[in-house]
This record gives sequence, C-alpha cells and structure tokens, in this order.
Amino acid sequence: MLKVVKVRLYPTPQQQQLLEQSFGNCRWLWNYSLNLINQTYQQTGKGLSGYDVKKLIPQLKKEHEWLTRTYSQCLQQVCLNLGVAFKNFFEKRASYPRFKSKHGKPSIQYPQNVKVADSHLTIPKIGDCRATIHRKIEGKIKTVTISKNGSSQYFAAILFDDGKDWPHSSTDGKAIGIDLGLNHFAVTSDGSKFDNPRILSKHERNLKLKQQQLSRKQKGSNNRNKARKRVARVHRKITNCRGDFLHKLSRRIVNENQVIVVENLNIKGMMQNPCLAKSIHQVGWGMFCTMLKYKAEAEGKVYQEVDRFFPSSKTCHVCRQQVSSLPLDVRSWTCEHCQTTHDRDVNAAINLRDEGLRILTRQSPQVEPLPCGGSPRCGKWRGKPAHGAGSSGTGDKAYCPDVRRGRGGRKKSTIPLSVG
Ligand SMILES: [Zn+2]
Repeated sequence: MLKVVKVRLYPTPQQQQLLEQSFGNCRWLWNYSLNLINQTYQQTGKGLSGYDVKKLIPQLKKEHEWLTRTYSQCLQQVCLNLGVAFKNFFEKRASYPRFKSKHGKPSIQYPQNVKVADSHLTIPKIGDCRATIHRKIEGKIKTVTISKNGSSQYFAAILFDDGKDWPHSSTDGKAIGIDLGLNHFAVTSDGSKFDNPRILSKHERNLKLKQQQLSRKQKGSNNRNKARKRVARVHRKITNCRGDFLHKLSRRIVNENQVIVVENLNIKGMMQNPCLAKSIHQVGWGMFCTMLKYKAEAEGKVYQEVDRFFPSSKTCHVCRQQVSSLPLDVRSWTCEHCQTTHDRDVNAAINLRDEGLRILTRQSPQVEPLPCGGSPRCGKWRGKPAHGAGSSGTGDKAYCPDVRRGRGGRKKSTIPLSVG
C-alpha cells in the first residue's frame, strides 16, 4: 500500500538558498521544455516526449552552468513529469500543460536517494535538513517532494510503500448515513449533529484588514512582500483549522463505522450560486468526502455515494411514504401515513444510509437478504445494531431550529442555509 507522510522541514539559510536555486532551475527547465515542445509542434507538426527532452539536459548544463547546482535526478524528473502532463492532456484527464510562474507554489521531486533519519532528512546536494518526523516511515521510499508554501514554510511529502496489501473491504458491521449541510456540518443517521465551525467567517475581518494593507503597498517593494506574508499567514491559519476539523471528524466517523454513506453533491454547480458560494467554499464538503473515502479504503471499510437526486429528505424512513413538498424552514415534520415525527436532517441521513446499503446489496448479490424483508432500514444490517450502540454523538445539543434560511443552491429539500 502506498502512503504519503508530509513532514515539516527546517532548512538552514544556506540550505534555503540551495533549495530556492533548485526550485528556480526546475521551473526554468519545465518552461524551457514546454516552449520547445510547442515550437517543435508548430514547425514539424510533431511533439516531443518527456524522454526526448530529458536527453537535452547534458547539453543544457554545458550552456547554463547554474543548472549543475541542482541534483540531476530532479531535473530528469521535471521532463518526465512534463511527459505525464501531456499524456493526461491527450487522454482528456487534464487541460493543456501551462508555464510555471515564479509566484506559484514551488516544488521539486527526488525520485530516490533521500534518506530519512529520526530528526532529519538527508537530501542529495542539500545535505542533512532538520525535520519533524511525526509518523513512522517504514518501507521503501518512492519519491520525496519538497515544497514551499506562501509563508515560507518548507515541507517534504514522502511517498513510501509499506509492503502491505490493500485490506479486503467488507460491509460487515455498523452502517452510517451522513447528511452534509451548512447549518450543521454533518448530521448522521444515529442522530449526531456536528456544528459547522465556519472557520473563514471567524478570520474574515482579520483577512480583510491584511488584504487592505497589502493593496496599499507599492508593487515590488519590500513592504509589499512583508504584507503578502501577513495575508498568507491568515490563509494558512484558516487552511490548518479546517484541515484539523475535517481530519478529526472523518477519522472518528471511519473508526466507529464499517459502511459510510454520503450524498454525491454537485459542489461545483452549487458554487455557481452567488449567495452560497462563500459558505460552500469554506465548509469543505469535497475535502471531507475525499478524507472519508481514503480513510475508509485504507482500513477495508466501505465508502458509498448516493445519487444527489435521491429524495432523502422527503421520504419517511419508517413507511417510505414521500411528501410532495417540504420547504426548507420545516425542521421537523410528521408523516401523514404512519404518524411518526421526523427530524428533517436525521430522517435524511437514515434514508441515505438505507439507500446506500440497498445499492451495496444490489452490487454484491452474495450478501444475504435481511430478516426484515430485504430493506436494511430497520438497522439490522447483518445483525449489527445501527442505532445508538457504540456511537458517541452530540445528541440533540447542537440543534438550533430557528436560524433563518435562504433559497437556492443545493437541491431544495435538504440544504439548511446559514446566511440570511
Ligand atoms: Zn411514515
């Protein structure tokens, strides 16, 4: 199984200079190669492969002495990566490769020969660089990518193969449905509600102030660079807080459940709504689903998405009766058929869980039908309790029913809107 651990690096001023030189050299080589490929195509109608460009490096090193200051394999890797970028473009996975900017996020890749010790990395041509190794790195190191962020912090992403196989996935265990929203970040089928931390809103005033200060500074000045770093610092804080929240919540959900069902949201489409774009951007649903997916897969658990047009809110989870309309301000409703009173979000989450389990049963016919007549909705999925047992939710504590809600965005039946 391939794993990545991203560690913080603390290079000395000398090492920083060497890294900067390498970032610059690799960027130059990328732009030079891309330009060469474009020109060759215009003149001859044929492109060059990554390997063709790689062969030019020795000649380029003779012409430009400064290229020799970078580790040769990093330069070779640039050419190969460019080849991959073109391959992705031709196979319609990505857009046409672009030139790299001096003001982007710089990075270099070491395909081998980086050694990991207890408190430092040994990097070719750079030497021993102090690092915080917070996870055990056991196995064969594949590549190490060194990058720098906007506020001049250095990181190394270490990709390694731990030699273990992917665990066999099984649906045997507790299942959970998660309804994602804006008012509550997540509502689960066992009744837990997790509040939306609204991290951007908390730092918005500070960010605005720092951005105003930046815009008043003269372009290219030293003070502008300092102000830029101050803005980057606020962004870094927001990213870190969001990442922390999402990682902790997804880890908890994956640890407590075997089958995780979420709605397949059209986040890109929802971002088109100008009233909601900011709220949806800051909430981080996409990142959360990605985390749930990889964390579940790494432990042999099942991550299942349900189609976004599935009427999860409007269906009664007890008798499957559908109501024709359910306005957004209705937070709880009573089913006319079976007289059950539902909490809107919890009902949606339970319906998502049932639908997810139904899809999984259809996909794998060897799973035995359930004792309650084929539908897993009674929670007796494979004999394991779906309600309560072992869960550590928030209960109804976080629930605040009288928040004003707008309209539009996500499909109207489920979105709890936060911005009035
Ligand atoms: Zn009902």
